Amino acid sequence: MGESLDFSIMKVVNHGAYIMGPEVFELENALSEFCGASHSISCSSGTDALALILMAKGVKPGDAVLCPAFTFAATAEVVAWLGASPVFIDVKADTFNIDPVSLAQGLATAKAAGLRPVGVIAVDLFGQAADYNAIEPFCAEHSLWLLDDAAQSFGGTYKGRKIGTIGMATATSFFPAKPLGCYGDGGAIFTDDPDLADIIRSLRVHGQNNNDKYDNQRIGMTGRMDTIQAAVLIEKLKVFEDEIAARNTIADRYNAALADVVDVPRIQESIVSVWAQYTICLRGRDRQAFAASLKAQGVPTAIYYPRPLHKQTAYRHYPVAGNGLPVSDSLAEKVISLPMHPYLDAALQDRIIESVRASLA
Ligand SMILES: *Cc1c(COP(=O)(O)O)cnc(C)c1O
Repeated sequence: MGESLDFSIMKVVNHGAYIMGPEVFELENALSEFCGASHSISCSSGTDALALILMAKGVKPGDAVLCPAFTFAATAEVVAWLGASPVFIDVKADTFNIDPVSLAQGLATAKAAGLRPVGVIAVDLFGQAADYNAIEPFCAEHSLWLLDDAAQSFGGTYKGRKIGTIGMATATSFFPAKPLGCYGDGGAIFTDDPDLADIIRSLRVHGQNNNDKYDNQRIGMTGRMDTIQAAVLIEKLKVFEDEIAARNTIADRYNAALADVVDVPRIQESIVSVWAQYTICLRGRDRQAFAASLKAQGVPTAIYYPRPLHKQTAYRHYPVAGNGLPVSDSLAEKVISLPMHPYLDAALQDRIIESVRASLA
């Protein structure tokens, strides 16, 4: 993509509208067209996307927000920013996503702790959508809003519904290592609610009045996406569908070649994952030795996540659902992610597969 990207970046450098330039709005239109959300609001990062939504909802001290413990810190960090309390929920061993049974326990835990449950942040971990057919009725029954942390899943679908159209709002990230990455930090918010979208657009620029910028109406932040990042994303979005297809081909090849020696990731029926990570579980094997053996053969690996949030220093004082989160604890000990990107060719992938098998022999 070199030339088209160079050209798009230089165009911004030359026109000089570095902040909220025309590419920002062009990208927002393209994102809406891509995912079907009525409102796409670009912003400074995935974390800020989550925060802007919570700020717009007026999340405050005394509120509880239910979220999984087996995720990246930002999911719960934004709740704590606003003085509210994350309540950690366990995940399912086969999908790595929120366990609806634990969700019900978390609600009881929040109430017992004297907190006011206001919403759920579901995470679509490693690119696979969470179990929304179970989560949505739960949220409706208990008057909780539903926010999709789609930092890893933008581009995917859940039973025919595009990521970006589920729940009250969706947050995604364009951090370089995400499936759709820019050349720095970036993120976006998707919603079908025009009033929520208006508030978020205001919060993104210091809470300004969308019509009179020197009358700030609320406390906001510097949450804009740089025009150069929008220019990069416009180009990369054009090939994103093809990249998602390539990631799925690669995941299928890994699954076929490794299912007999490790627990390979399982995608639920009628879900299209974007494979942000290809994460396997070792069957009682020493993970450190496995990673070291692969490294010696030139194959890099990574661990997402070695410690669930409720076991991390900044988060361990927050409530957890039920009597603990055994699945999150156990996954943290045995997951490991293999190289995954759309340009991994078959020969290189075969080398990785051979190395994995040799390391387990
Ligand atoms: C990456 C990530 C974020 C944060 O996105 P940034 O753009 O890095 O701020 C939030 N949630 C999850 C699940 C992520 O993977």
